[in-house]
Amino acid sequence: MDLNLSGRTIIVTGASSGVGLATTRLLLAEGAQVAACARDGERLRSVLSDLPGASPHRLFTASCDVTDRDSAQRFTDAVLGEFGSIDGLVCNAGRSLMATLDDTDDQAFRDEFELKIFGSWNMVRAARKALAESGAGSVVNVNAILSRQPESRLAATSAARAALLNLTHTLAETLAEDGTRVNSVLLGLIDTGQWRRRFESSGTTLSYDEWSAEIAANRGIALGRFGNADEVAFHIVTLLSPRSSYTTAATIDVGGGVARYV
Ligand code: NDP
Repeated sequence: MDLNLSGRTIIVTGASSGVGLATTRLLLAEGAQVAACARDGERLRSVLSDLPGASPHRLFTASCDVTDRDSAQRFTDAVLGEFGSIDGLVCNAGRSLMATLDDTDDQAFRDEFELKIFGSWNMVRAARKALAESGAGSVVNVNAILSRQPESRLAATSAARAALLNLTHTLAETLAEDGTRVNSVLLGLIDTGQWRRRFESSGTTLSYDEWSAEIAANRGIALGRFGNADEVAFHIVTLLSPRSSYTTAATIDVGGGVARYV
């Protein structure tokens, strides 16, 4: 099926790794023009330069810190200078903070909200006018099942994600006036850089596969394994497609059945 993404310009934040990288790869395969950012511009360029379809007129990369309003605006302006339009925005940049309430200091708590809330809001307000002019504007906020199912070991992260889910619904209502759709993809445990870093610092004698299978069992993931970034990217790209034209304020869970809510 043609997703009608060919020739459309899509911004992907946090594109140098994991879900952002897989989304960029899939968008290029669908014929889209991708504007990709991360804070470390060198790593971003080196990771993306070998992707199929990554020619200079299809892929624009630049360093951007999405928590910084000016940086988000500069990046968006540069994208418009390069491609002349913006049809989609994937607010994906992020990380999680594995810490209980007792182990989270105030600054770390604020940083979580800064990244989750402003990582979306800074980008949306910078791109809003261009998305409206697209006539098929679509925003996807990459969020977590934690937003609805908090875990005390991820106390600040759970709270910040709940706030982002709430904000996403307000954005969907507000941007509907412009004809722009806003949706969420809620992730469970996805095998990306975040989990590889945790594995490396865990000191375990298990292999990565054994270690992650044990976590999947402990967390009660119905499908018994972590997901992979391609399994998330598929849903992001589907929501970006103009074929999803009646879908806004929706959430898609990609968690292998880890969610306990109905
Ligand atoms: P990765 O750690 O693999 O990649 C994170 C990306 O975000 C990198 O490109 C990183 O590059 C970029 N980034 C981080 N902070 C900023 C910033 N302030 N401004 C711009 N770019 C930034 O993450 P995942 O692929 O695992 O996660 C993608 C999203 O999914 C995140 O929002 C994450 O919170 C969410 N998620 C992931 C889960 C999982 O199990 N993997 C579970 C639930 C949610 P750089 O460091 O150079 O900036």
